[in-house]
Amino acid sequence: MGRDILVVEDEHNISDLIRMYLLKEGFDVRIAGDGALAIGEFQKKTPDLILLDVMLPVMDGWAVLSRIRETSRVPVIMLTAKSEVVDRIQGLEMGADDYVVKPFEMKELIARINAVLRRTEIPNDTSKKLVFDKLVINLDGYELIVDGKKVDTPPKEMELLYHLASTPNKVYTRNQLLDEVWGFNYFGDSRTVDVHIKRLREKVENVSDQWALKTVWGVGYKFELRDGTDEG
Ligand code: CA
Repeated sequence: MGRDILVVEDEHNISDLIRMYLLKEGFDVRIAGDGALAIGEFQKKTPDLILLDVMLPVMDGWAVLSRIRETSRVPVIMLTAKSEVVDRIQGLEMGADDYVVKPFEMKELIARINAVLRRTEIPNDTSKKLVFDKLVINLDGYELIVDGKKVDTPPKEMELLYHLASTPNKVYTRNQLLDEVWGFNYFGDSRTVDVHIKRLREKVENVSDQWALKTVWGVGYKFELRDGTDEG
């Protein structure tokens, strides 16, 4: 379960010290002693975070950072010397997530690592993808996968289904759905919702007995999720 930190640092006494502290904090640690080795380690397996020294043999930290940013948003904390003030600003502009000025206290480094990990993990938690039995609603890519097959679905239908399924068993009125999915500037009427629900049903009806798109008569709609163990 330990999170994997790649430490890119050519001074062994510093990297050894960092490794010791990170291990104590429960992280897994890999060390790369120059820029090219860092790229190699990164390509072998994307770490959860990279501590990246600026002054490195073969390729400096900036070059490593820009190579990594071509393909990855992995969190990067730059380790900079005190004099490199301009470089720090440059680093943040180049996509570093934070920087720590040498010489630093290990406590400060650990605090920065934890802060960056917390901050950068939020997008994963709020990734707009819902997974149910035989159903994947991926709002990041506007992709609906029903029983393993991609089903072409217009954006508003995707948004409506996502909205309902993100709060299973909550009943929405048609007006709530108009407000929350179409936005209050939308001048449609509630039949718009009915039409979209009808089209969605044609795509997802009777696919699984664990969930269903339900009409709640006289009220509105809900995405019903059945507890497979307790109820029928
Ligand atoms: Ca160095």
